[in-house]
Formats: sequence, C-alpha cells, structure tokens
Amino acid sequence: MTIAIYPGSFDPITNGHLDILKSGAEIFEKVIIAVSYNANKKGFLTIDERVRLIQESVKDFPNVEVDSFEGLTVEYAKKRGASVLLRGLRTSFDFEYEMQLSQTNNKLFNEIKTVFLITKPEYNFISSSCVREILLNKGDISGFVPEAVQVYLQELQL
Ligand code: ADP
Repeated sequence: MTIAIYPGSFDPITNGHLDILKSGAEIFEKVIIAVSYNANKKGFLTIDERVRLIQESVKDFPNVEVDSFEGLTVEYAKKRGASVLLRGLRTSFDFEYEMQLSQTNNKLFNEIKTVFLITKPEYNFISSSCVREILLNKGDISGFVPEAVQVYLQELQL
C-alpha cells in the first residue's frame, strides 16, 4: 500500500489544497494530510483549528487521514511508513521553491519521492495568505475555501 503525506501549513485550508488532495486520494491508497508546525511560530489559526477545519472539509474522503506534526517532514514520513510526499504547483515560483525542497528531502531520506500535481486554472490564484488578507479586510472568501471553513472564519471577530 502506498501511503502519501500531504504536508503544509494549511492556515487555512483552501479550495486549491482540497483539489490537490482529492486528486491525490484517487492516485494513492492512503493520503495523510498533515499540518506542519513550529511551536515557536505563531500562525493565524491554531494547529487544532486548522486540523479541525481540514477534518470537516475531508469527511467524505474515506482514504484520507488528518494529522499534525512538528519537525522534519521526512522524519514524520518515516514514522508513518509513507514513501511519497504530495505537493501542489501553481506557478513557476512554486516550482523553484518546491524543487529545492524536494531535493533536500530526498537527500535527507532517499526513499522518499515527491509527487507534484498541477492545480486547476480556477484555483491557481488561491493561497492561504490571500484568504487571510481578504478576511482581515472583511471581504468575501466564498469560492476560496471549503464551506465549513468559510462559515467558521467569517464568524471569527477579527
Ligand atoms: P507550505 O507552508 O508548506 O508551503 P501551504 O499550506 O502554503 O504550506 O501549501 C501546501 C502545499 O499546497 C504546497 O505544495 C503548495 O504549493 C500547495 N498549494 C497551495 N495553494 C495551492 C493552490 N491554490 N493550488 C494548488 N496547490 C496549492
């Protein structure tokens, strides 16, 4: 069974993330979407909030598990018996960064392979940071994030 880890900040999860996850779940027997965090860095949402919003957004995918981890992604992958890291690509800027990350991870653990999926054009412009910016300026984030995320975020008093 091929287990893939889909690591990221997911602060918050967006429709672009979800689209990559859906495709990954069609390719691999199991996908673990894992929020990576650094206890010293404060994000926008807490880790628990991010995990819970992901859980609500993926509840219809039977072969997807939601988790979080601190530290090196490759160490987490080893611990979970995963041989694939799943990542999404939007632009050539993503590519430059992701290529280095993939080569670094492969140097640290040569059994890990990164599989990249290209985002659909309708999700190309979506990022967690633009969602946060719209939200802070009281804009409408529907169409950017899954419904459960939208409801939760628009109720936050920012
Ligand atoms: P990180 O901090 O690890 O980059 P992110 O949550 O920003 O975490 O992104 C996780 C992964 O999802 C990355 O591979 C990123 O390129 C990808 N991603 C982010 N937004 C989109 C999108 N709109 N479409 C496809 N992939 C995306």
